[in-house]
Amino acid sequence: MNEVAFDSLKGFLSKILPQSLRTAIKKARIFLLRGSHFYCPVCERSFCKFLESGVNSRRNSRCPCCGSLERHRLLWVALRYLQDKGVIKWGGRLLHIAPESCLAERFGQEYDYLSIDLDGKKAMMAMDITTMTFKDESFDVIVCNHVLEHIPDDEKAMKELYRVLKHGGWASIQVPIKGKVTQEDLSVTDPKERRRLYGQEDHVRYYGLDYVNQLKDVGFDTLLIQKSDLLEIDDQARMSLSVENEVILCRK
Ligand SMILES: [Zn+2]
Repeated sequence: MNEVAFDSLKGFLSKILPQSLRTAIKKARIFLLRGSHFYCPVCERSFCKFLESGVNSRRNSRCPCCGSLERHRLLWVALRYLQDKGVIKWGGRLLHIAPESCLAERFGQEYDYLSIDLDGKKAMMAMDITTMTFKDESFDVIVCNHVLEHIPDDEKAMKELYRVLKHGGWASIQVPIKGKVTQEDLSVTDPKERRRLYGQEDHVRYYGLDYVNQLKDVGFDTLLIQKSDLLEIDDQARMSLSVENEVILCRK
């Protein structure tokens, strides 16, 4: 089942099933998939397999407990590694944009946490990240993953992220990356054509490796962390990280 279908089904079930029944179904799924072959570092649980997910149906992709995907698991491992090495400070005020539920739960336990989304039903506040109402340097940490590829004026969004981040703070601003050079044609509005060109119907570009330069242009220092720097091959397989390679950390 792809991510769009999964989210649609999840949304549909959340409307028709009571919370108690949804919790019971989740607990049963976790029990049935118990095992040791796969490990999710986000919720720190082990399973015999992960769930299938993604537009192209990736096997062993989604954690049956917290719902993490490959990118969330690699990011979480990278952040813990950087924290252990003293590269980033843990704690403080964190802004989570378009919050992923698996990360929201973990960050919420350890930060003074606030989430925003264009759709106020999906976060604590409704807000457009190209026109945020926060004062300059309001947050120690910003987490804004897989958002910019949806936004036509991504430079404006990046400038806003930089503006509201404190000096000395860090940000995770992950995007899907394919190839060396960013591909964008804002005149393309047909969903099928966007999917063909940019991998998803609501994506307006495919970032290339030059994405790092865009982050630098608005003022961020960037740090590229390779998966191989973080984990041995066996652990990469156990966390099912085959489709992810690196994490970009931004600092101000
Ligand atoms: Zn998990």
